[in-house]
Amino acid sequence: MATKHKGRAIGIDLGTTYSCVAAWEEQNGRAEIIVNDQGNRTTPSFVAFTDSQRLIGDAAKNQAAANPSNTVFDAKRLIGRKFKDPTIENDLKLWPFKVVSGDDDKPMIMVNYKGKEKCLAAEEISSMILTKMKEIAEAYLESSVNNAVITVPAYFNDSQRKATKDAGVIAGLNVIRIINEPTAAALAYGLQKRDKCSGKRNVFIFDLGGGTFDVSLVTIENEVFEVKATAGDTHLGGEDFDNRMVSHLVQEFKRKNRVDITRDPRSLRRLRNECEKAKRTLSHANETTIEIDALFQGIDFRFSITRARFEELNRDLFVKCMEIAQKCLDDAKMQKREIHDVVLVGGSSRIPKVQSLLHNFLEGKDLCKSINPDEAVAYGAAIQAALLSESYSIVPNMVLVDVTPLSLGIATHGDLMSVVIPRNTAIPVNMGSVFVTIEDYQSAATFPVYEGERSKASENNLLGLFSLSGLPLVPRGHPINVSFELDFDGILKVSAKDETTGSKNGITITNEKGRLSSAEIKRMIEEAAVFKEEDKKFKKMIKAKNALDYYVYRMEKALKDFDVSSMISPSEKQRIKAALRDGKSLIQNEHQTEASVFENYLKKLQNITNQ
Ligand code: AMP
Repeated sequence: MATKHKGRAIGIDLGTTYSCVAAWEEQNGRAEIIVNDQGNRTTPSFVAFTDSQRLIGDAAKNQAAANPSNTVFDAKRLIGRKFKDPTIENDLKLWPFKVVSGDDDKPMIMVNYKGKEKCLAAEEISSMILTKMKEIAEAYLESSVNNAVITVPAYFNDSQRKATKDAGVIAGLNVIRIINEPTAAALAYGLQKRDKCSGKRNVFIFDLGGGTFDVSLVTIENEVFEVKATAGDTHLGGEDFDNRMVSHLVQEFKRKNRVDITRDPRSLRRLRNECEKAKRTLSHANETTIEIDALFQGIDFRFSITRARFEELNRDLFVKCMEIAQKCLDDAKMQKREIHDVVLVGGSSRIPKVQSLLHNFLEGKDLCKSINPDEAVAYGAAIQAALLSESYSIVPNMVLVDVTPLSLGIATHGDLMSVVIPRNTAIPVNMGSVFVTIEDYQSAATFPVYEGERSKASENNLLGLFSLSGLPLVPRGHPINVSFELDFDGILKVSAKDETTGSKNGITITNEKGRLSSAEIKRMIEEAAVFKEEDKKFKKMIKAKNALDYYVYRMEKALKDFDVSSMISPSEKQRIKAALRDGKSLIQNEHQTEASVFENYLKKLQNITNQ
């Protein structure tokens, strides 16, 4: 039984390209998607750094083409991964911002902020987006909110989940649960359908977003939502479809003009923006034209692309989605005809070719389009948040049983993966296994913990090493009990015990390479507070500057439009004009960043003009 948390709780869908926040509204019996300060229901997962400020969301995305190397997106593609990960290697070629290898091969994003180079982890960028989503919710709810349910792709591994949780901590959030995106969508769908359908329903969730792809098979029976199986790819989504189009057009541009635009981040960013727009257009039109003036070295770019060509460029990726869908069905041991509903989630599920392939794959089954694919995940997260919070008395009666996406085990003699928790086991779960020593009189044993499906352990993902010392000096074959504990968030703890001595000593996961240490998290929390203070200071300065600017403008206009000769002497008029001129140069001085300087000058100006 899960514990309930004090205070309100929100649901955040932290997406690769867009994020969305929702809160449970008990008076309406539904979750509310919260609009941001621009009136949008989703917020770009973008953070930008300039000479004077940090921008998050729409403001960051809107200036991306002008400031490409300091505008960071796709942090979700980096989170919990190593720099040398082959998927990152490919992304790097098309990202206009710089990523380098940090300690333990952790990818670090390099930006220029206020004239200084700054090195940021993906967790920090994600924490900034989470902070923004928290603020959006707080503005709407008119109170502070600390508790949040954050969603992750079902196929995220242990380190990606832990890193997402760390991002929440840096953002000052109490992450009460990490839930899988398709499972959250199933909750949203279930709430909508529960009154209309009775009996057991097998729901197939097809979630193709900006950066990740997940499929889950969920059985809904009365109030119980049970995930039967999940499969996915944490590096497959809309960004890849954009990349294919970008690469194609880069080649076209090269062929026609004999120049390579990939060296210029600004051109690349402009091309990418237009490709993303064209891709969306091709979801409802058969052809579209991309036109960009002076894309590179003053050369204009114009290219018509058909839906068929776009589909051809991405054919293998679309086919891969169907293969993954098949894997999920196989794991759930379910036939296609046993599926009652197919729910589309994620912006990329709007692509007609994806829909038609899925329709054919499921032998003509209708696809449910009644829930908003961009909002269903946040909606479901808000339901889960309400279920875990003490603050709501009227909540839907729903129980969620999720599964672990990857098998977890220990590498045994001969690099063999010995699975302790098989994939698609319901969580939370405690499972154990007995391992034996392989050498005579062995005093200590080391256990490498892996996740993945390969039988050769080293081809899976190493999560950590733990060792047990103080073993009795006996011949080989001495048993050691190892237990794996997987919590509600899908995060693993491992322990081992020697039953003969009762020894539990020396059992630690020592090899969590790439994970932030608690000291680093503490430093990042402090830095986040500094960023917040700087943002506040910047906003205050802009407000003061604008107020002065407006006053100068009004006074100049008044001097020009009205005959003031009867009211003030010519020398007085000259004095006011000079003061307005000084005010203007103060406004134009980019080095002036103190709000009080503008405020004081405004007061001085008001005194002069009111005299
Ligand atoms: P999500 O992560 O669910 O917010 O999905 C965002 C992704 O969906 C981005 O890659 C968008 O370009 C993509 N997307 C949104 N609308 C459409 C559309 N109409 N056609 C194709 N892709 C879309």
